[in-house]
Formats: sequence, structure tokens, C-alpha cells
Amino acid sequence: MGVTYRRILLKLSGEALMGELSYGVDPAVVHGIAEEVAELVNEGIEVAIVVGGGNIFRGMMGAAAGMERATADYIGMIATVMNAMTLQDALERIGIPTRVQTAIAMQEVAEPYIRRRAIRHLEKGRVVVFGAGSGNPFFTTDTTASLRAAEINAEVLFKATKVDGVYDSDPKKNPDAKRFKSLTYSHVLQQDLKVMDSTAIALCKDNDIPIIVFDLSVRGNIKRAVAGESIGTIVGG
Ligand code: UDP
Repeated sequence: MGVTYRRILLKLSGEALMGELSYGVDPAVVHGIAEEVAELVNEGIEVAIVVGGGNIFRGMMGAAAGMERATADYIGMIATVMNAMTLQDALERIGIPTRVQTAIAMQEVAEPYIRRRAIRHLEKGRVVVFGAGSGNPFFTTDTTASLRAAEINAEVLFKATKVDGVYDSDPKKNPDAKRFKSLTYSHVLQQDLKVMDSTAIALCKDNDIPIIVFDLSVRGNIKRAVAGESIGTIVGG
């Protein structure tokens, strides 16, 4: 396989693990993702993952129900740790050594986030899954993905979603919606296009990290993206 990127940060939303379910985790879907990640690792690609928690709990959901936002966000962050451990389990069952590092200390179940240690794991061919977001309320796991990508010197951020890229309008509502092949960070920010939240985009912009948005449900897409094939939408300078 041709390889364009050697170290990648893959952002998986919590919903990506849910498949067709309305809550929680579909083990078959997680297994499929693990297999795709394993293919990369076996090719010598260094893979770090930031996983969301929307399949279990979102801070905004709690806040809307009257909870204090910060408390709700901490619950959301803890939800991401469950997903991180689920991914670890799925990866290790197929022989891929994986470490979970959390931004909120939970040393009985995972390592604390230590940047240099994370890089060392990657160099040794282990997948690193970052849980508990950034450890700060009022942030998202998309922003965490940009932050960790910058910290570990990832060459690219893969934003795996349920749509095959970024459109000029909602493709579900507008049959004439057009998909962008490439976009600049400024365009995304100015037009408020739904790629990631603006903090996440700004962080990638400042650190020159390209973002590739693609459909995770198409088998083999992660590999295609690593090979530099034009799938989805690429956001860059
Ligand atoms: N969260 C947070 N700080 C972070 C990352 C996440 O407070 O740095 C909380 C926030 O409440 C968010 C929840 O964790 O709603 C789950 O993450 P997110 O909604 O980003 O997950 P995704 O949409 O990717 O499944």
C-alpha cells in the first residue's frame, strides 16, 4: 500500500461506535474499526485515536436538562473513557497492543496522559487511545483531537464521520448539495461549515495540520486516506 502519512490522529465520534443502535456500542462495528486500524499498524503506520462520548452522554444534553454544565461535561468526559477501553479491548483481541491514556487520572484502568510516553508507545507500534477529552469542561473531543494531533506531531487529523465529506448544505435535506473536495481553514471558519467546532479548526490552522473528513462506514476508507487518495474533503492552508 502506498503511504502518504506515517503518524495519524484518528478522531472517532462516540456515535461511530454505535452503528445502527440508538445508544451505546455495537460490538461488530467496533470490531470492524479495530480491523481497519490493525491493517494500518501492520503497515507500520503510527495510529493515535481520540474517541468521543456522544453515544453515551453529552455535556450539552445534561446542561439542557438543568445540570451544571461543567458537571455534565465531566460526565461526558468519563463516558469517552468507556469508549476508549472498548476500543482497546477490540484492538488487543486481534493482537494490536494498545494503551489508553486519560486526561482525568484513573490509574486503576488507564495510564494518565503523558505526552512523551504517548509518543514512545506510538514509536513502538502501539495504538494510543486518548480518553477523557482534554480534561477540561467546555471543550469537545474534536478540539481534543486537534490538540493531541499537535502535541504528538501527527501529520494529519482524520475526522471519521457518517458523511463522505463537507457539503455546502445538508445533503440529507438538499439533493443538490455539493461536496467540497478541498477547503481552506479560513473558508470553514468564515462560512461556519460543519466540519469540527471552530476551536478545533483554529488549532489545526495555527499548527498546519490538515484535516481529512470522510465516511467511516465505507470499509477501507481509513487506508485510502492514509494512502493519500482523494476521499471526502481535505481542509488545509
Ligand atoms: N467533553 C469535555 N471536554 C473535552 C472533551 C469532551 O467536557 O475536552 C465532554 C463534553 O460534555 C462532550 C462529551 O465530553 O459533550 C462527549 O464528547 P463529544 O460530544 O465531543 O463526543 P462525540 O460527539 O465525538 O461523540
